Amino acid sequence: MRIDLHTHSTASDGTDTPAELVSKAAATGLDVVAITDHDNTAGWDAAVEALPDGLTLVRGMEMSCVGLGEDGLPVPVHLLAYLFDPGDEVFGRERERLRAERIERVRGMAERMRADGLPVDPDAVLASAGPSAGRPHLARALVAAGVVPSVGAAFEELLAPHGPYYVEKADTPLRNAVEMIATAGGVSVLAHARARKRGRVLALREVRDLAEIGLGGLEIAHPDHSDADRDVLSGLAAELGLITTGSSDYHGTNKTIRLGEFTTEPEQFEQIVGKATGVPVINR
Ligand SMILES: [Zn+2]
Ligand SMILES: [Zn+2]
Repeated sequence: MRIDLHTHSTASDGTDTPAELVSKAAATGLDVVAITDHDNTAGWDAAVEALPDGLTLVRGMEMSCVGLGEDGLPVPVHLLAYLFDPGDEVFGRERERLRAERIERVRGMAERMRADGLPVDPDAVLASAGPSAGRPHLARALVAAGVVPSVGAAFEELLAPHGPYYVEKADTPLRNAVEMIATAGGVSVLAHARARKRGRVLALREVRDLAEIGLGGLEIAHPDHSDADRDVLSGLAAELGLITTGSSDYHGTNKTIRLGEFTTEPEQFEQIVGKATGVPVINR
């Protein structure tokens, strides 16, 4: 059984459509794939419709949250939400808020750039961005306009938190997110919690607190985790009785990681399925 529980489609910042994603997942020999776009479920239906024989689909999402960093200051955290009921009212309202927040933020950053004389059209960026507008879309617009040589350069300079055009976004407090996902019948798994190359990381004591209010698991095998990171997280998961997952965090050609490069053990996957009451996994 090969199980990859964290992938992105064009419904956020991946390059494969949901249909291409499931067809590549099957072609690559995966038995189970989860679609986990940022802060939205817009890719779910197309993935279900295109699901090839023999592949099991887990409907999920990667939620932008804010937690407590090791230094005691707020830190951005990603939380995977699996098999939740998309019709749950409270969680639905929060996703709607996040969606509006993303649009406002990208518009705000683009308008600051335009006011500064950069060739960026806020409407055009938003029109091309789809349901999960974010800094990657601005980065690609800056590359296309010849302002920076690459997406990486855009992130290091113009789009960086200390850069001149940065606009904060009000992500969901991690505790609220864990509770909302549980109430919606889903299972929450902290994504790449020790990925230091992305910046500061979550305080481990917060993981202990989250476990008490319903956190389901920790993503352990991930391209941005070192062996030492995995050891720390595995120890914590064992201590707290949390599910452990491994995933590629596939983004198509936006990153170099391949589908299925990191995977989840079948017994861990079964625990997620056993715990979830929102929507079932789908196979045909
Ligand atoms: Zn992430
Ligand atoms: Zn991701």
